[in-house]
Amino acid sequence: MSRHRNVRGYNYDEDFDDDDVYGQSVDDDYCISPATAAQFIYSRREKPAAFAEPLEEEEHEAEEDMPTSPSINHLNLAPLDQGRLYSCLDHMRTVLGDAVSESVLAEAAVAAGFDPQKALDSVLSGENRTASAPAKPQQEAPPSASRSKKAGKGRDPPVSKLDSEILPKVARMTVSGKKPTLGFDLPSSEENGIVAARKGASPEDVVAMATAGPDSSARPVASEDPVAVPTPVKSGKNKHQLNVKEELEKRQGGKPLLNLVVIGHVDAGKSTLMGHVLYLLGNVNKRTMHKYEQDSKKAGKASFAYAWVLDETGEERERGVTMDVGMTKFETKTKVVTLMDAPGHKDFIPNMITGAAQADVAVLVVDASRGEFEAGFESGGQTREHGLLVRSLGVTQLAVAVNKMDQVNWQQERFQEILSKLGHFLKQAGFKDSDVSYIPTSGLSGENLSVRSTVPALTSWYKGPCLLEQIDAFKPPQRSVDKPFRLCVSDVFKDQGSGFCVTGKIEAGYIQTGDRVLAMPPNESCTVKGITLHDEPIDWAAAGDHVSLTVTGMDIIKINVGCVFCDMKESIKACTRFRARVLLFNIELPVTQGFPVLLHYQTVSEPATIRKLVSILHKSSGEVLKKKPKCLTKGQNAVVEIQTQRPVALELYKDFKELGRFMLRYVGSTIAAGVVTEIKE
Ligand code: GDP
Repeated sequence: MSRHRNVRGYNYDEDFDDDDVYGQSVDDDYCISPATAAQFIYSRREKPAAFAEPLEEEEHEAEEDMPTSPSINHLNLAPLDQGRLYSCLDHMRTVLGDAVSESVLAEAAVAAGFDPQKALDSVLSGENRTASAPAKPQQEAPPSASRSKKAGKGRDPPVSKLDSEILPKVARMTVSGKKPTLGFDLPSSEENGIVAARKGASPEDVVAMATAGPDSSARPVASEDPVAVPTPVKSGKNKHQLNVKEELEKRQGGKPLLNLVVIGHVDAGKSTLMGHVLYLLGNVNKRTMHKYEQDSKKAGKASFAYAWVLDETGEERERGVTMDVGMTKFETKTKVVTLMDAPGHKDFIPNMITGAAQADVAVLVVDASRGEFEAGFESGGQTREHGLLVRSLGVTQLAVAVNKMDQVNWQQERFQEILSKLGHFLKQAGFKDSDVSYIPTSGLSGENLSVRSTVPALTSWYKGPCLLEQIDAFKPPQRSVDKPFRLCVSDVFKDQGSGFCVTGKIEAGYIQTGDRVLAMPPNESCTVKGITLHDEPIDWAAAGDHVSLTVTGMDIIKINVGCVFCDMKESIKACTRFRARVLLFNIELPVTQGFPVLLHYQTVSEPATIRKLVSILHKSSGEVLKKKPKCLTKGQNAVVEIQTQRPVALELYKDFKELGRFMLRYVGSTIAAGVVTEIKE
């Protein structure tokens, strides 16, 4: 699984040098993520033969296939013109698909001086001749289609095998505001003489394109992609045929899906704890773990070996803190769990909000060591802030891992002390006692994680479940599969194949490959060509699933983290002004008209101002206590009008809870939680 990064606002030109394309080594951080690159590097070393073979085969086949493009070969074009021809052909293919043979296209392109519009006109005007041959492309297509499939096959297995063998599958959610670092774009100008490669094609792809010709390069890689279908499938074509609820029950062996976020103060041991759980579940093999142990020892951070399972980037490892939200999957007896490891450091709270917004349940990790629990719990610590945030973002069930119990000799008194302090606070934050459970753990030694502990100092007083049993016991949440489709984008990236990918959690409804969907903002539509869930290609996905969608027919530049993909007919509204009911947290400064805030919800983080203070409300009855107040102070409940700088896609809380609640932050701290009551404009 690759680590995806944000491509928003990236100046591709700066990082991309034409000359590098063919000589670019696979570890260049352009189009494949470092994790994927690591697999390539590793596999080259480990299994050179496995790698060399398919590539050779691919090149060989490509060479063999060259004569199938006589139109291009016999034209004897100068390299510059050849590049222009490929570019022109690419344009034409986006309109015509495979419906017209390459030789016809190539001739038309040359005749039109490589002007795609002219060439298209000439082909289309003479098309009635060729239109009678829808079967023809299918006859012509197979060599290249099977070739690209074959080539794909040849390349993929070693990667995926090694992938599961070596690297735990950790994906990343990138959050707006982070330095975007991935993706490159070939300047689309035809002058550079390079095949009009798609943005972000991998080095292998570029080589394959150069050798196999544009025909194969135009192919999406996704296996379920209807390769030979030139026209996109219309929206909702098969929708009525799918009984999502029934299918959902059958899926994953009947195990419901649970999105779990791990929260807590920095250094509480979140990554170590969950890394160890993954290891105990067999999701990380011994060899990899051994490698992490060795590497972390070398780096002088031996105690972080398990944390490295989830903390993937060099910077995270160096600093010893989680920054991104690491995402991976594991299974318990009755559930399939998508695990999100949220950063604890206060600098990365926005990332944590993103993780929490997509979670159904949470594991709060607290450090039981003397002084450490207190540091995390007192003001300035993240235990309270995280607790409040997840509750405000809709998480109702919580497992508290009272961690590092080995440090306090598994003392019951210490456990009880933490339990009473935290219990009181969590109740205030809105968690029901019955929905919160406390489990003594040691992430480092692995006690009480996947099986109940046998340490006498603990078993003498603790008879409850281990952490995994508790996770298994969480009630799966109700999913809004009956509502119109909504997915909030947490990452945008360019993968192999045509189009680009977006990831995010489906908040409502469901989607099938071939569906057309709308992105808000920017109010543009696209076709969903492929869906992957936990790295597996699937035909449909529904509310609660954390998916990657491959979309075509839209410009990647227009899509940002925070955009909402939605149903074409029942779309989400985009606005810059809305009214909301807010609850102010423990704030020092009074909130006045014009107060600047950062609006956070789902994956959105947008500068905004409090435009109007409408009224102060009674906390429980909701009755208006005062209209047009001059300021708002801590603990108050109020109606305010918020103005954002750019349009944001929002829903009324009453319609879509997930997309109608938000957080307001000011200078690094969360000052309020709110729900949208009215969308203005
Ligand atoms: P995070 O910032 O919450 O993800 O914390 P890490 O997982 O990075 O752990 C921070 C430090 O605490 C590391 O040095 C870990 O080895 C250490 N640590 C984590 N869990 C335990 C534990 O159960 N017992 C002890 N003694 N140390 C732990």
